[in-house]
Amino acid sequence: MKAIQMVKPGSEPELREVDKPSPGPGEVLLKVTAAGACHSDDFVLNLPPEGFPYPLPLTLGHEGVGVVAELGSGVTTLTEGTAVAVYGPWGCGVCHFCSRGLENYCSNAAELQIAPPGLGAPGAMAEFMIVDDPRHLVPIGDLDPVTTVPLTDAGLTPYHAIKPSLPKLVGGTTAVVIGTGGLGHVAIQLLRHLTPSRVIALDVTPEKLDFAKEVGAHETVLSDADAVANIRKITGKDGATAVFDFVGYQPTIDTAMGAVGTMGDVTIVGLGDGQAAAKVGIWAQPYEVSVRAPYWGSRSELIEVLDLARDGALDVAVQTFGLDDGVDAYRKLAANDLRGRAVVVP
Ligand code: NAD
Ligand code: ZN
Repeated sequence: MKAIQMVKPGSEPELREVDKPSPGPGEVLLKVTAAGACHSDDFVLNLPPEGFPYPLPLTLGHEGVGVVAELGSGVTTLTEGTAVAVYGPWGCGVCHFCSRGLENYCSNAAELQIAPPGLGAPGAMAEFMIVDDPRHLVPIGDLDPVTTVPLTDAGLTPYHAIKPSLPKLVGGTTAVVIGTGGLGHVAIQLLRHLTPSRVIALDVTPEKLDFAKEVGAHETVLSDADAVANIRKITGKDGATAVFDFVGYQPTIDTAMGAVGTMGDVTIVGLGDGQAAAKVGIWAQPYEVSVRAPYWGSRSELIEVLDLARDGALDVAVQTFGLDDGVDAYRKLAANDLRGRAVVVP
């Protein structure tokens, strides 16, 4: 079968011919119907070769939707032909975090060498993929695989990031979204649907800012050296109640810390260059600001996000590619030349 694989750090992924996998005991084989390309893939593709964390070649794709094609022995909770979304942050299933559905924070994954598909295990950018356990699959019913697949990360991650701030996002407050790409454009819609807050979106081009308005931002601000002043012109002296940074480089983290107001939340989701950090201390930001850096989301939250999509609350923008031109999707992602999410349809 065909698969898009990372072969060498620092190089483009490649379309390659690999063996079709077959499910072992307890596993599920999916015929992939859609796979999303995430900026985290680009981050991984550009990691230095020394100390590279995953076995290579690696089939990419941690956002996957498919149809159950074959059940490994002992799997009784699914039937062939069911359309499912893959919950990607696989954990052990039994530690305290996994027991709460927070497999993204599994205490044992590293030690047990459990890795998400596309981020260690073979991913969704292929004709078929293996899912290690049926609990990592959520039936999607008649949702469209192409607009649903980004919800497994570009929907789930902002949802998990926004949820803890919801009690603060009451009437009259402001939420700021920095970076209106795959994750950010869903974040804007989640904030509009779940809160009465005014939403200010930041990005680097007028086209991206127009897109942010189209998906629901009330106001937009160019993400430059004047961004804090321009956000504060809108918020007044109270600043923003919650800032979500879907970029994560030092300048955007500084913007987030500069825009947030007293008792506000700063949530850093973007990986940036892997080095940037928020400076926190008694005089470094307004009083009682909380800073979080969350990773992905829980199993139950994926079900909640899919339910929101079913209710019509989310309009995910996608650009589709075949497996044959999937490498081009990664080129466009790296060049920041996408509107919403790139989705590969095998
Ligand atoms: P994307 O490429 O689709 O979107 C990034 C957006 O940020 C683009 O619209 C781009 O124009 C904009 N941008 C770039 N530089 C900017 C700047 N200085 N100021 C404002 N906007 C800027 O990326 P994505 O797939 O949405 O991922 C966003 C980030 O989140 C990436 O760093 C990714 O690795 C990370 N991520 C983190 C998690 C997690 O669990 N923490 C999960 C998924 C993705
Ligand atoms: Zn991702």
